[in-house]
Amino acid sequence: MALIPFDDRDGQIWLDGAMVPWREAKLHVLSHGLHYASSIFEGERAYAGNIFKLRAHTERLRRSAGLLGFDLPWTDEEIDAACMAVIQANGQTDAYVRPVAWRGSEQLAVAAQHTKIHLAIASWSWPAMFANRMEGIRLDIAEWRRPHPQTAPTASKAAGLYMIGTLAKNAAEAKGYADALMYDWRGRVAEATGANVFFVFDGDLHTPTPDCFLDGITRRTVMSIARRHQMKVVERAILPDELPGASEAFLVGTGAEVTPVREIGPHSYTPGRITKTLLDDYEALVRMSPAEVDRLAA
Ligand code: PMP
Repeated sequence: MALIPFDDRDGQIWLDGAMVPWREAKLHVLSHGLHYASSIFEGERAYAGNIFKLRAHTERLRRSAGLLGFDLPWTDEEIDAACMAVIQANGQTDAYVRPVAWRGSEQLAVAAQHTKIHLAIASWSWPAMFANRMEGIRLDIAEWRRPHPQTAPTASKAAGLYMIGTLAKNAAEAKGYADALMYDWRGRVAEATGANVFFVFDGDLHTPTPDCFLDGITRRTVMSIARRHQMKVVERAILPDELPGASEAFLVGTGAEVTPVREIGPHSYTPGRITKTLLDDYEALVRMSPAEVDRLAA
């Protein structure tokens, strides 16, 4: 696969309040965020010129920062406007948008109260994460587990938590899988490396309770679509020995959108009617205007 490095592309990146040419959006190697993972980010998708659930992403960015003990020096309105300005500056209507905030270089010990908080926002074209969607992807079962909430700020979209995700995903890809299903510290089913998971048991939709991993914006969106279809939605602890009993399984996330799953380790699934209904409705919803999306959520 030919990789175009992310630091050598055309376009504009919003950095600390100003649009800068893509290749000039740099930070110093002695940045607290790089050494100690004092960094949080968002992943958003723009469809037809609107960023889906933009304010919810901006609010989560702020919450993530707060959980790592820092405040973003920009208002929600300013961050929303900057995200929109970035896709416009890059001439995009459909794109992935990546805000990232981190502690700067003023201190480089563990203590960090006097570091400046930086915020950058980039956007790039990123079509569906997994090709041939209805065919379904294959998931490995990860050795790595989601940590106890007292071991890490698990409700934050903190860069540090993705260290485990990268280890799990690299191991899965090395074995020919698309991604990995991760259990939590107790051994319960948690989520994939960058997406939440749903199962169909006896025609009802089940998903793990997000008590030590991200309660995704797509997860909540898909649950409300399902309820609009009068489906029963159950949030509960799901144990690995239940996996063979599910008839359908799928991942959801801003990047993954709704991605059917056809295998999890030794277990097979057939992407079916429920997955297809939710996938089609999600694809239609993300292309609606923000006002229509809000109206449907009300
Ligand atoms: N879990 C993890 C670890 C993720 O990285 C993501 C993607 N942000 C999700 C779940 C899904 O979250 P969302 O639907 O808000 O994108």
